[in-house]
Amino acid sequence: MTVFQGKGVCNAIAIGKISIIQKQDVSVKRYHVDDTDGEKARVGAAKEAAIQQLQAIYEKALKEVGETHAQIFEIHMMMIEDDDYNESIESIIDTQQINAEYAVAVTADNFAEMFASMDDAYMQARAADVKDISNRIIANLTGTISDGTDSDEKVIICAKDLAPSETVSLDKDKVLAFVTAYGSSNSHTAILARSMNIPAVIGMGESFLQQIHNGDEAIVDGFTGEVFVNPDAETRTRLLEKQRQDEEKRHLLQELKGKENITIDGTKINIYANIGKVSDIGTVLANDAGGIGLFRSEFLYLENNDYPTEQQQFEAYKRVLESMAGKKVIIRTLDIGADKQADYFHLEKEENPALGLRAIRICLTRPDVFRTQLKALYRASAYGTLGIMFPMITSVSELEQILAICNEVKADLKANDIPYNANTEIGIMIETPAAAIISDRLAPLVNFFSVGTNDLTQYTLACDRQNALVEAFCDTHHEAILRLIEFSAKNAHAHGAWIGICGELAADISLTKTFLKMGIDELSVTPSAVLKVRDAVRNTDLSKD
Ligand code: PEP
Ligand code: MG
Repeated sequence: MTVFQGKGVCNAIAIGKISIIQKQDVSVKRYHVDDTDGEKARVGAAKEAAIQQLQAIYEKALKEVGETHAQIFEIHMMMIEDDDYNESIESIIDTQQINAEYAVAVTADNFAEMFASMDDAYMQARAADVKDISNRIIANLTGTISDGTDSDEKVIICAKDLAPSETVSLDKDKVLAFVTAYGSSNSHTAILARSMNIPAVIGMGESFLQQIHNGDEAIVDGFTGEVFVNPDAETRTRLLEKQRQDEEKRHLLQELKGKENITIDGTKINIYANIGKVSDIGTVLANDAGGIGLFRSEFLYLENNDYPTEQQQFEAYKRVLESMAGKKVIIRTLDIGADKQADYFHLEKEENPALGLRAIRICLTRPDVFRTQLKALYRASAYGTLGIMFPMITSVSELEQILAICNEVKADLKANDIPYNANTEIGIMIETPAAAIISDRLAPLVNFFSVGTNDLTQYTLACDRQNALVEAFCDTHHEAILRLIEFSAKNAHAHGAWIGICGELAADISLTKTFLKMGIDELSVTPSAVLKVRDAVRNTDLSKD
């Protein structure tokens, strides 16, 4: 048995076989070949395999997400057969007498550059597709196609790191746990693991991957951050017992369903859930959340290879609103950039992406993308109780610009007789120190605040949330954070706005009493934490210290 120590980011235990995700090495090696016909035959076989894989993905997507979303895989199959693309690969192999992988990679770069330089947004977006199909062909050539979930058995996924877009596209039914060499607990990958209630341990260090093998048995303890590879009988028994106790506790919490979120002395609070996908609604309802306090709409963009259309977005938002049957649903507008990247946005590489062009800054510099989303949101508002929330606000003028665009979108809908709810609440995230400090100026302009403690912590304490090296300096209970939340709560209430917390700290039950004392009106947490927080609220007595 070997014991590895990382950082647990989702409190649960998993036992199963390891499956290592071998990511495509982007720096494909170039080497001389004598048998150019042999290389071309290798490309042919890799393409054939790619088409078969895409056909299977297309059929799965057709069943799970419908034809509109599945179409992209048909386009990918057509691109693989494209004459110009194939002629380019063959001519590079022939003229330079080099290996197939390198010829595909060079062709991919050339074609992606050509697409990216076109004026038409649709053609620009094809740059990401050509890279995608080329990576698939290269992965087939090098034998590294697996996303780790090919077998029918549920597995423990081990990887260097997982981007949020990779995490969302994994087949959840086949993942027992995540273990990554890098990552930090407030990264979006960790947040996704919590929202899926999948045990996860991060920050194992690079050498971890060199010491494990596909098929090794492992136990992942998301409570302690320990990973036991090839566990001995005593460890197995101990962890199985711990898993049983955890399940028993979860089972007991089920009895709180249907009960009020009320303290012993009678203070009430709303407990909502955070989601990233329409399909998360099931867990929201199963855990009896009172509403959705944060729908991270950017995952609609991350799952796609192109900008989701107004109609696609409208349908997704409408489905969430209808499923919540009148309960409040707060949808946050696109928060892309930093760790959440979609190729088709063609965002420039930045030295400090967390301090760069992300979230509302992208929306305000790309008003067409922003308007499309707002139009879809307002159209969906007719089907439930919607709140629209804007991320990364730092100034009053930004908020004024946003409100002006919202008014234009509403006027446009009205002029075209398209129904929308004129009482749709508008809110902002308090996730920069600037927003908290000027919360007295922002509050009169909105209906609600929602504190994003993940970013508020990163920006207040100057700790990159993606950087595991500074995790030890990232004290989420730091007095500065708590003071900023309290100050924002006072200002919200002074101007008739309500205030919630939707960052990960909302589920930290050691702070539930503190938040209740501040007068926080809503806590929005990962669906699986709703009942745990309800339990904490019901055991709190604000009349006692
Ligand atoms: C936050 O910053 O706390 C938050 C809820 O937003 P995200 O984690 O998506 O950045
Ligand atoms: Mg944030």
